Amino acid sequence: MGETSMKGTRLGTLSLERDDHVQPAERRVVRYVCPEGHVSNVPYFVDADEIQREWTCRCGATAIADEIAPEPPKEVKPARTHWDMLMERRTRADLEELLEERLALLRASREEEELPRSA
Ligand SMILES: [Zn+2]
Repeated sequence: MGETSMKGTRLGTLSLERDDHVQPAERRVVRYVCPEGHVSNVPYFVDADEIQREWTCRCGATAIADEIAPEPPKEVKPARTHWDMLMERRTRADLEELLEERLALLRASREEEELPRSA
């Protein structure tokens, strides 16, 4: 009799475990580590649209989840620098020519300034 009730208990435990296994499958735990070494395990629903790569740690620092890739570049609009815009209008040869002109002017003006001083 005692054995029978134990078996019953075991079976019950097993079926409960199975139920438990269903739930974690719907969630994903993301591990964040802050610069201080604190670990935050944050559960997400698997079908969550956005899983943050950064998490504010309990100590206030920004924890990073290494397993989450950084935001895709498409979200960051490539900022055009002045240099990019310049290169669209002028070729490198043009720029070098301009630079040479400027440098020549600069040298000439410096020489003019220096001459009276040295003399
Ligand atoms: Zn921390």
